[in-house]
Amino acid sequence: MKTIYLDNAGTTQMSPEVKKAMLPFFDEEYGNASSLHFLGQQAREKLEEARGQIAKCLNCLPEEIFFTSGGSESDNWAITSACREGERRGKKHIITSAFEHHAVLNTVKRFEREGFKVTYLPVYENGIVKVEDLKNALTDDTALVTIMYANNEIGTLQPVEDIAKICKERGVIFHCDAVQAVGHVEIDLQKLNVDMLSISAHKFHGPKGVGVLFKRKGKRIESFILGGTQEMNKRAGTENVAGCVGMAVALQEACKNLKEDNERERKLRDKLFDELSKIPHSRINGDRTNRLSNNFNMSFEGIEGEGLILLLSDSGICSSSGSACTSGSLDPSHVLLSIGLIHDVAHGSLRLTLSKYNTEEDIDFTIKEVKRIVEYLRSFSPLWKDYEKGVKNHVI
Ligand SMILES: *Cc1c(COP(=O)(O)O)cnc(C)c1O
Repeated sequence: MKTIYLDNAGTTQMSPEVKKAMLPFFDEEYGNASSLHFLGQQAREKLEEARGQIAKCLNCLPEEIFFTSGGSESDNWAITSACREGERRGKKHIITSAFEHHAVLNTVKRFEREGFKVTYLPVYENGIVKVEDLKNALTDDTALVTIMYANNEIGTLQPVEDIAKICKERGVIFHCDAVQAVGHVEIDLQKLNVDMLSISAHKFHGPKGVGVLFKRKGKRIESFILGGTQEMNKRAGTENVAGCVGMAVALQEACKNLKEDNERERKLRDKLFDELSKIPHSRINGDRTNRLSNNFNMSFEGIEGEGLILLLSDSGICSSSGSACTSGSLDPSHVLLSIGLIHDVAHGSLRLTLSKYNTEEDIDFTIKEVKRIVEYLRSFSPLWKDYEKGVKNHVI
């Protein structure tokens, strides 16, 4: 059976070029980048080359790139550093959105338990925060604004340029979780006035377990992982040279082909929307156009998303109902609830996220299978029978 992988917001397949670039570091180039001997210095050179390449893709300085173990660490580090700085200055207010990734939400909640006030900006039915709401929420006590670039479940793009501008004017630290955006959206850190930005390699065909925290020159950052003097004395731990080199190759590849890949993915994604919207009592979740070109998210009334995903899996199709982090729990996605879906509708959701490796045949087969399985699941859904008999009113 062919694997049709449509869970690229969860993780991506590593590109063959990335793997090729990484292999020497598992073999003869095993030096520790902090060692003085030639093997260590070779590793150091490769690491700094990777840092430079990543900086170039994002139009920032190499010394603004800090390597981490991935998106979660970058989010934890940025938020913790900003809150500690806020504490010292007597500022104990955080502004975030209601549908951040749990790496952000749970870190923010830790500070909320420790006495910080938190404003969770609403994201409305289209899944986009309003700049006006941010302006109204800012106070002299605000230590940090942390808002994602693109949502990981519904792909909606946030007005980060405007948010960054306002935060700069007000002198408030702005951190942006750009894990879903980097590699899919052009990001120019000279123009985008963020103070900190999180990146994860495995979301753009790089390896797992490596990421970046961008920190603008001149802004303060506190160490998060304590130990040796790596990463300009800010992030301890022997450098993951293979991972960083792989990430740099992946990012360069993604940036080089960004427009073409987006075009292709958008066309295939729109075909999914057009065809699957024909299923009666279905809805598209999140703004239809102001979203990542590879993100599809819909709800189908009267079914359980989990059932749909397991049956799609039996046909070789990898999909998701929410984020990988919340699947397995029976709670509906906090993202879908935040855009106003009721529990039943949120439960019947399907997320398909494409990559450059998907073909039109993959998409045609997926359309056929989703249509077939939704009908099959509805045929013995008690909830659906109630709708059909008129015992319950349709909600979509
Ligand atoms: C995947 C993801 C993360 C976590 O990144 P990891 O590298 O898996 O730790 C954080 N934020 C968003 C928006 C994500 O999609």
